[in-house]
Amino acid sequence: MAEIDIYAALKKYFGFTRFKGLQEEVVKSILGGHNTFVVMPTGGGKSLCYQLPALMQDGTAIVVSPLIALMKNQVDALRSLSSEEGIAHVLNSSLNKTEVKKVKSDIASGVTKLLYVAPESLTKEEYVDFLQTQKISFMAIDEAHCISEWGHDFRPEYRNLKSIIQRIGSDIPIIGLTATATPKVQEDILKNLNMQDAHTFKASFNRPNLYYEIRPKTKNVDSDIIRFVKQNEGKSGIIYCLSRKRVEELAQALQVNGIKAVPYHAGLDGKTRVKHQDMFLMEDVDVVVATIAFGMGIDKPDVRFVIHNDMPKSIESYYQETGRAGRDGGEGHCLAFYSYKDIEKLEKFMSGKPVAEQEIGHALLQEVVAFAETSISRRKFILHYFGEEFDNETGEGGMMDDNMRHPKKKHEAKDDAKQ
Ligand code: ADP
Ligand code: MG
Repeated sequence: MAEIDIYAALKKYFGFTRFKGLQEEVVKSILGGHNTFVVMPTGGGKSLCYQLPALMQDGTAIVVSPLIALMKNQVDALRSLSSEEGIAHVLNSSLNKTEVKKVKSDIASGVTKLLYVAPESLTKEEYVDFLQTQKISFMAIDEAHCISEWGHDFRPEYRNLKSIIQRIGSDIPIIGLTATATPKVQEDILKNLNMQDAHTFKASFNRPNLYYEIRPKTKNVDSDIIRFVKQNEGKSGIIYCLSRKRVEELAQALQVNGIKAVPYHAGLDGKTRVKHQDMFLMEDVDVVVATIAFGMGIDKPDVRFVIHNDMPKSIESYYQETGRAGRDGGEGHCLAFYSYKDIEKLEKFMSGKPVAEQEIGHALLQEVVAFAETSISRRKFILHYFGEEFDNETGEGGMMDDNMRHPKKKHEAKDDAKQ
């Protein structure tokens, strides 16, 4: 495939003139018919990696994705790029007979370039039998970490994918994509999909504009947070808390102190949630105090700080949540309050779960403890966790954390946390 064609297609279908990061190499690998493995942080542009080659090739690419809402968004976006309504379809249990028939005829006639399927739908005999007879360009497994128990979002249905793919066609190239970069999860993905031969493309997870800071959590945490927010007046920020109760409490404490803040958690009704989210996006308020229910798909580029009132349950979660700061490349202060008591609380939450899950949860939490208590470069720690070498003397953002700016002995940090 001539290079010029890739760029022409990029312009034609997406209106972009250049690729982001490793996209071009990934697209070429897929067009070359190779099994391909893509690890890029959220927002890195993974969708285009498989959408573009799918649009350029004959046949239909099957895209497996865990969330129906995300699939629908992508299908709508693809349809808006094309005059051909059938260019992309979702196949799931909500379709009636007529709709399924339409999907099938669009695939059979070669109109459909991308077919989005939830993993549980793909196990349906009827669909497998049909897809077997069709021209399939490749299979893309989005959010491929769902296959691994070591990921933060294990989904058992993902475990059957390889055998289903084999039934649909044994020589169909497989594309795995994920934003989870830990070596363990990656190994699991490659093994489970039997694609150890895959061409692998891994983007750096370094976010050089983010400043990482951990402070000991004391009973004065409210005033610590209020002081920080006041020092950052007029800037947008997110404050994550573990419990809904704490979200409400802290949002109120901020409001009482004259800070424009709203709460957000799954216990609020849908209307209120949308309203509060919009107020934050429209900058009617500066701060949203939230549980982890807030953030998926929120793309506010100028979030200037992310505060963790409680440490999250894994480094992946910490990275995801702090990653919502400084998307525009500008300042992003990530401040977390750490106390070992909170870790014990998180351990207790897991006690009802199956033993295997508890063990994994415990191991993930111990990494969080190590991160909070470390005296080395926080950035180096995070990137090492994701299997990436980082030299904090020469690497970009090397000085951007509390430990590097204000070196401190390890035992002091530990003593602080015990207060
Ligand atoms: P991921 O799945 O890796 O989290 P997405 O595929 O959702 O990322 O893409 C994130 C954003 O980047 C989207 O808004 C997308 O339109 C944009 N994007 C992707 N590729 C390009 C590109 N080559 N040029 C400009 N914007 C891009
Ligand atoms: Mg994605």
